[in-house]
Amino acid sequence: MQNQYINEWLNIPQLRVTQILTDAFDELHFEAVPVDHRQSCPICLSDAPVIRRGTNGMRTVRHLPVFEKKSFLHVPAIRLYGKACEMGFVWAYEFVDPKQQYSKSFRSLAVEHALGSTASHSARMQQALLQRRDSSRV
Ligand SMILES: [Zn+2]
Repeated sequence: MQNQYINEWLNIPQLRVTQILTDAFDELHFEAVPVDHRQSCPICLSDAPVIRRGTNGMRTVRHLPVFEKKSFLHVPAIRLYGKACEMGFVWAYEFVDPKQQYSKSFRSLAVEHALGSTASHSARMQQALLQRRDSSRV
């Protein structure tokens, strides 16, 4: 798979896939970096005096399935420092909430599935109740 193709498929405009780490039979792992080079200070919202201070390693975030494989994005936990506020913070990714291990898209898909299975479960329950009512009538 070409990286360009992967980028389009992932549909996370703020990320750029740099390489495929693993392409196993059931899992795909991508390494990605932010497209932007800087991010505003979350306190004063100014980006000019924010400096990068390396990374705190990589974050692994589960994303939507690709061709029925689980997909994982490995993104750097970039350390930033806002000079104006004298505050250290980590890069905030739009596709995932802080400290979450699942992307927002993955989480909403999981919720949809959960709601779907609840709906079919209650449909089955209703069916069972109707059948019982019918049989008790006999
Ligand atoms: Zn600031």
